[in-house]
Amino acid sequence: MYSGPGVKTSADFPIPDMMKAWVLGNPGELKLTEKPVPVPKRAEVLVRIDAVAICATDLEIIYHGPPASILGGMPFNKNFTPGHEYMGTVAALGPGVDEYKIGQRVTVEIHAGCGQCKRCREGMYTSCHNYGLNYGDVDKGHRANGFTTDGGFCEYQINNINTLVAIPDAMSDEEATLVVTAGTAMYGLTELGGLVAGESVVVTGPGPIGLLGVAVAKAMGASPVILTGTRDNRLKIGKELGADHVINVRNEDAVEAVRRLNGGKGVDYVVECSGAPNAVNDAVRMVNRGGKVCLAAFPHGETPVDVAHIVRNNIYLYGIRGEGKSATHRAEAFMSQKRFDATKIHTHTFALDDLPTAIRYAKERIEDAIKVVVKARGVSAHRIAAE
Ligand SMILES: [Zn+2]
Ligand SMILES: [Zn+2]
Repeated sequence: MYSGPGVKTSADFPIPDMMKAWVLGNPGELKLTEKPVPVPKRAEVLVRIDAVAICATDLEIIYHGPPASILGGMPFNKNFTPGHEYMGTVAALGPGVDEYKIGQRVTVEIHAGCGQCKRCREGMYTSCHNYGLNYGDVDKGHRANGFTTDGGFCEYQINNINTLVAIPDAMSDEEATLVVTAGTAMYGLTELGGLVAGESVVVTGPGPIGLLGVAVAKAMGASPVILTGTRDNRLKIGKELGADHVINVRNEDAVEAVRRLNGGKGVDYVVECSGAPNAVNDAVRMVNRGGKVCLAAFPHGETPVDVAHIVRNNIYLYGIRGEGKSATHRAEAFMSQKRFDATKIHTHTFALDDLPTAIRYAKERIEDAIKVVVKARGVSAHRIAAE
């Protein structure tokens, strides 16, 4: 029977001993297997995973490895379960946990820092100095589910209570999986200065973080909000999420267009979500003197940077990783107040058993897929209608 020292369960949520779990074999190879249902420790709960969205970073991990780091190395053939953008229902409480109840719906953020290093103490737990130190003799309590610890392409997972975000009944499972994406955009805007009302913002790259970056910037009162990209269908969604202007960079010079649309001056902030080779040099030319650029995409190779332009113009560049400083809670507040409709980026849902098909849709952008969600329950073992 499922149990652990001091762990509380409920007859209303019977927990099996074993669960379905996808594990990563060689690069690109996922295998459906069974694992024991994990048991929460102090300050942790067991979450029954009800829905999990596929992220571009999952594709990086499954096909290339980084930024996952398992036992200090590549994640292949280590019985590792990827997946990090999930939501679900609290199913068991670790010893002493009274912050959440069994049966409560929650979504999760990824990083539980160690809580004891300099960065964690500053709220920058996504930059924890004990990142990945969570095995055996060097267990510092750090977890980044789907990166350094098992993630969400399975039926149950352990989460530190600091990574939980309570969600209202009115928020669908699919929408709740998008809180962490909106939270990443929110963290980027927080690091740029936080006070965004009346400031001009460009978002480059209409992927999920870029599109929700537009929505969050608009909800925070930015004006104007300008989105750049190469695909008109995505730019159209950006308009629906609040972009005042969109620029298709195939048709016009993005730097010139931004300056024209903002009265001849550059903008205050750029949130760079494209990872394009010229993205940093374009971004530092889109901002005005003293402007700030947040880098939220990971390009594959090295990126040329015009340092002289940055220095002469007192431009600030920030790398951000994930969703620190409790940004998911602020993003969830906008979403539960219906300040924007994140579900505009959810395009497909599959059963958990069909994960490889779901991954193929996300990777090859079949039928213009943006956010593809898999569900362990409530979906028969074939694709269900897109919204
Ligand atoms: Zn992600
Ligand atoms: Zn830490």
